Amino acid sequence: MKTKFSPATLLAALIAVGSFAASASNAQTHSPVEKTKPCFQCNATGEMKCPGAGCKDGQADCPAPCIKLRTGVWKKHPELNRPDPSETMQDTTVSGHRIQVSSHHEGVYYVWANGAAEMKTCPTCNGTTRVQCKTCAGKGTVKCEICEGKKIVPESWTAFDCPRMRNRPTRYKLKDGRELLGRKISAIGSSLRIRTEAGDVNLDTADIVSEEK
Ligand SMILES: [Zn+2]
Ligand SMILES: [Zn+2]
Ligand SMILES: [Zn+2]
Repeated sequence: MKTKFSPATLLAALIAVGSFAASASNAQTHSPVEKTKPCFQCNATGEMKCPGAGCKDGQADCPAPCIKLRTGVWKKHPELNRPDPSETMQDTTVSGHRIQVSSHHEGVYYVWANGAAEMKTCPTCNGTTRVQCKTCAGKGTVKCEICEGKKIVPESWTAFDCPRMRNRPTRYKLKDGRELLGRKISAIGSSLRIRTEAGDVNLDTADIVSEEK
């Protein structure tokens, strides 16, 4: 018996092919989902240490000129016979008068009044010498700048190079046709040491045709 397709079967087959083609082209209009991995910068926490100047646990140095043990020159003065042997002093000037301030008086400032230096508590830091950091609002951490708090990054991003890095490696084109992606770590005369992802490479500036960031 001869096999014969009825027009209806043929039509059904054509529709099936057609709808398959349609769904395939549909799939192509969506960009493929990029593979991701945990962020290498923040260990997938989404947060990083605050980069604010002097920020430690969300506290930064008081911007007012109050007495701080971290600034200026502090010296011991045994000749003053102060009761605390660890006390140090700093020379400073108040309204043109030279005075010595004590390491016991952090977080204060002096005004000249009635012929003497008068001590006042710094109103900016309340005498603590520290204020809330503006960058992190006292939190001590900010959103990770690599993953922007998402905790994941595209598979291709590495700690060596990724688009959100501030100091991206340079692409060196060499005379022999090679290309190196790396960061210059030292330069002595014309000899350069370039750190690539695979390790350090020594080059002479004469080997380089061009370099681009
Ligand atoms: Zn202060
Ligand atoms: Zn901070
Ligand atoms: Zn991150």
